[in-house]
Amino acid sequence: MMNKPTRELPARRDTPADGARPRLLLVEDEDGLRHALVRTLSETFDVTAVSDGSAAAELLVKETYDGVLSDIGLPGMSGVDLLRLVRTYDLDVPVVLMTGQPSVETAIAALELGALTYVQKPFAHDVLHGTLLRAAKLARLARTKREAVAAGVGGSPLAGDRAGLHTCFDRALETLSIVFQPIVDRRARKTMGFEALMRTKEPSMPHPGALLEAAERLGRIQEVGRRVRELAATSFRPPDDGMTLFVNLHPADMLDSNLYDRHAPLTKIADHVVLEITERAALDDVTETKHRAAELRRRGFRLAIDDLGAGYAGLTSFATLEPEVVKLDMSLIRGIEGSPVKRHIVESMTRLCRELDMHVVAEGIETMPELATVIDLGCDYLQGYLLGRPGPALVPSSQSW
Ligand code: C2E
Ligand code: MG
Ligand code: MG
Repeated sequence: MMNKPTRELPARRDTPADGARPRLLLVEDEDGLRHALVRTLSETFDVTAVSDGSAAAELLVKETYDGVLSDIGLPGMSGVDLLRLVRTYDLDVPVVLMTGQPSVETAIAALELGALTYVQKPFAHDVLHGTLLRAAKLARLARTKREAVAAGVGGSPLAGDRAGLHTCFDRALETLSIVFQPIVDRRARKTMGFEALMRTKEPSMPHPGALLEAAERLGRIQEVGRRVRELAATSFRPPDDGMTLFVNLHPADMLDSNLYDRHAPLTKIADHVVLEITERAALDDVTETKHRAAELRRRGFRLAIDDLGAGYAGLTSFATLEPEVVKLDMSLIRGIEGSPVKRHIVESMTRLCRELDMHVVAEGIETMPELATVIDLGCDYLQGYLLGRPGPALVPSSQSW
């Protein structure tokens, strides 16, 4: 049986206007302490008090608070469990935990979940007051900041606490989709394949780099990889048969057993797939790279080195992966017609790759002079906004240039 809040429930309210009394949810099972706290805190806050975690959780779904003050040792749902629950739907509400005996484990769990602070019982009321007022101000600041991020102005989208980041990341994964950018065969002047690029509707992760950075911080890279591979395989509808699908891998994906799974959707079309491994991230943490590359080839995949010229020493990845395809980083292509150095580098790379039986893709072609130059230098495949923006894999397969 759930305990009733000690005052009538107001209708659902949105964030209070600045200047309004801050709204505080108090969760304390000890009647005497709860009553005492309601009395003193009501001088400053609009206090709603409940005596267990489930009642608090129910209120938090319906209402917006500027702070939660919760005991840790609650019947049924502990203060830390409550905090975990709170973070699944309110990333910004500051939670202040009260405890008689803090343990190291609880402290770590609480901090990871974004508890603002601890107050140890018995506490001085002016200290508690000050902590809660500061919490309320932080809550309003955090909400304003998140609104700014959602509106696309300022603020680091990744500046939230870990639990908040997990929640944003979950939403990003749920709304993940794939767009396809055409890759054109220079000789045939036809689209020969598409690169799968991920997109998400999560406002705090507006481009793949932000999602990947969050995934790295949370140790959840392989979840992204699995979702991308599944979606890329199932949503790829090439306009012609036999077209190649290029799929990006993070080095950590190389360690995921799912990548090698015969029954995974992408493995089923492996003969049409080139896996791109970026030069921007080091392969150092990947063990048995040569063996893994061989395993992928046994499944039917071909391999590409992506962003060549952008990152770490290329020779190691060349020697270990022996890629079938090399994608030149767009920094080498940008303004290439006016740069003898870039022209020289691209020409040498293209010649060497040809001698090693590797195909070369020039990425990021935006202008006609760039296109003319990379064609002249012998790049096999061409990709860039000039030839086609990322979108559905349904472009005409002939080119007008
Ligand atoms: P990338 O694999 O080198 O992909 C090419 C990026 O350049 C894409 O950005 C593409 O939209 C953009 N691009 C293509 N043509 C042009 C052009 O002419 N001009 C300019 N300025 N840009 C062009 P996007 O989609 O934002 O992806 C950025 C990077 O994020 C990718 O670089 C790749 O490293 C990573 N990424 C994207 N999707 C995935 C994915 O599904 N998995 C993994 N692991 N990484 C991904
Ligand atoms: Mg790529
Ligand atoms: Mg690239």
